[in-house]
Amino acid sequence: MQYFDYAASAPPYEDVIRTVSEVMKLHYGNASSIHAYGENAGRLLNKSRFVCAETLNVKPDEIIFTSGATESNNLAIKGAALRYQSRGRHIITTRTEHASVYESIRFLSEIGYDITYVPVDALGRVKTEDVLNAISKETILVSLMHVNNETGAVHPVVEIGRALKQNHPKIVFHVDGVQAYGKIPVQLAETGIDLYSISGHKIRGPKGVGLLYIRSGLELTSLMSGGSQEQGMRAGTENIPLIVGMSKAIRLAGERQSELKAQLERLQLLLLEEIRQHPEWVLNSSEEGAPHIVHFSYPGKKAEVMLHMLEQLNVIVSTQSACSSKQAIPSRVLLGMGKSEEIADSGIRISLGDEHTEQDILQLIQAMRQMKERLASFEGWNR
Ligand code: PMP
Repeated sequence: MQYFDYAASAPPYEDVIRTVSEVMKLHYGNASSIHAYGENAGRLLNKSRFVCAETLNVKPDEIIFTSGATESNNLAIKGAALRYQSRGRHIITTRTEHASVYESIRFLSEIGYDITYVPVDALGRVKTEDVLNAISKETILVSLMHVNNETGAVHPVVEIGRALKQNHPKIVFHVDGVQAYGKIPVQLAETGIDLYSISGHKIRGPKGVGLLYIRSGLELTSLMSGGSQEQGMRAGTENIPLIVGMSKAIRLAGERQSELKAQLERLQLLLLEEIRQHPEWVLNSSEEGAPHIVHFSYPGKKAEVMLHMLEQLNVIVSTQSACSSKQAIPSRVLLGMGKSEEIADSGIRISLGDEHTEQDILQLIQAMRQMKERLASFEGWNR
């Protein structure tokens, strides 16, 4: 089997698996306890925070550990919206954000916040000027993803962050960086981004752990009531094994970023060139997007049928994002990009990682061609 669903979850590094298991076995103290076992766990927690901060080039106390990017996004959006509601109740976002952002904002709209959904172009990107034009006196938060998890589209978050900081420094800027970190470099301290979410399992770390970068000076209303862990912004005993495992993955991803980007770009190009040779297929991504995602539709064919056919041919791909793929509805992301229901219902996402070689891509291409032939022969029977 060849696995091409890294954007849903990437296989953890051996070193991460070993580290998580070792920390579980040896360092089971509670980091809040004041005896030696607690201090030991606390030291590991501090070291992990330091490693993440150093890799991201930010300060250690700007990192909050969470149970994953779903929580990071909820905390960033609801936490900022609640904390700064006295300034206004207007939020700017798009309709193509990840469910954890889209639904958090929908929740806020239900309790009285005003939302502007800025349109995206055919490749899924917002225009900086459209975001800036949507700002009103009431705007307190802009939330955009860095890289779209279905299509790989890249929003110009650095340009938007700089413009916001220059002209609207009080507006909080949250960026969901889950699909970007490790593939697209970003200097958080210099870009006007106030909040940045990262998830462990998209970068070959463990599942169930993530972080939120919170720029110094910014305050969030905590969503969890309880202890004073994570500077009071995220109550609950820290999961030291997963945090240590993730910090390892963050460091490795940071070190390998430029090498990985070049490798993925080469593999992505092979796939894009192949898809462009099939007039029946519609490409929903491009080489301008993130290097690890390729997305195409085969209008008239059900995405699920294609996925299972490819699985029989020993390649694993995905339909929409993993979080939405069990819902039998057309992709909200593709509809948001102005694509027809037929296109939004027949999308296949291929996502790549550092273990893939050119040989693997050729095998995938072979399977895609076979899938097309099989689908064509089914049509022959129907006639
Ligand atoms: N944002 C994006 C862009 C994602 O791709 C995902 C994972 N599908 C998440 C947020 C949620 O991350 P987690 O699985 O860590 O909750």
